[in-house]
Amino acid sequence: MDNIIEKILELKEKKKALILAHNYQIAQIQDIADFVGDSLELSKTSKGATASLIVFCGVRFMAETAKILSKEKKVLLPAQAAGCPLAETINADDVLNLRKLHPNAWVVSYVNTSAEVKAASDVCCTSSNAINVVKNVPTKDVIFVPDKNLGHWVKKNVPEKNIILWNGGCYVHEQFTLDDLLQARKKFPEAEIIVHPECRKEILEKCDFVASTAGMLKRAKQSKAKIIIIGTEEGLLHKLKKENPDKQFFSLGISRTCLNMKKTTLNELLVSLEKEIYEINLEKEIIEKAGFALERMVQYV
Ligand code: SF4
Repeated sequence: MDNIIEKILELKEKKKALILAHNYQIAQIQDIADFVGDSLELSKTSKGATASLIVFCGVRFMAETAKILSKEKKVLLPAQAAGCPLAETINADDVLNLRKLHPNAWVVSYVNTSAEVKAASDVCCTSSNAINVVKNVPTKDVIFVPDKNLGHWVKKNVPEKNIILWNGGCYVHEQFTLDDLLQARKKFPEAEIIVHPECRKEILEKCDFVASTAGMLKRAKQSKAKIIIIGTEEGLLHKLKKENPDKQFFSLGISRTCLNMKKTTLNELLVSLEKEIYEINLEKEIIEKAGFALERMVQYV
């Protein structure tokens, strides 16, 4: 193990590469990364970095987003098979069909979508700015894709818009149940319960805070609660515990794991970095159109 870590660090230094890891990656990957964050933070870090070689430890749509925002860089995805079942619920043709059905609507796509879906959208959003983006786009009709739970949350908070939802969901976040929440309240009445907006709406309504992973990290630091219960993928607990050693963190119910997020191992990271394989390649037109929808997001937050 130490040998692999040494080799990765040596190669990283030699190639002046930047290793990025999502908050849901296994602890060993998080610990070796130069930066750990949510998908958009990682893409922004990639864009602002001087390194021309980026090794992205996450799932495909995230590495694609990094490539879109830093097109001149070489972006590697060590776990080639790491897709996102939520992102895969919709493709660009589905978006075009929705547009035909709702010609006056803007399409707002969550960052958890393929590059092609972003390219077919008017603007992108994250889980932390989805409410503002939908509120501020110029049309009353808004097609929101692909996560229905985040979409319901946006609908609740932006009642003045006519929001058309796509029936996609994250199988990890959809596993949390209302019973998990009620049991947690009983067991830890003094705890704060923070859940991700990809969770089911009955959970969003009964928790203390709804937040993205970046928002959860921020809230955990600010909160006076000594016990915090988290309704998101269990990988986030590693960073939460590291940053808040005086607090206790538990998963809501049992730990929920995203299998795709756990596909990146130290060995795969080493092989990808060493051979510079599993590069993300996207068509120029897709990069341009998806980049436009992503960059446009800042105008509407
Ligand atoms: S946690 Fe859900 S949304 Fe995130 S990568 Fe896994 S399946 Fe996709």
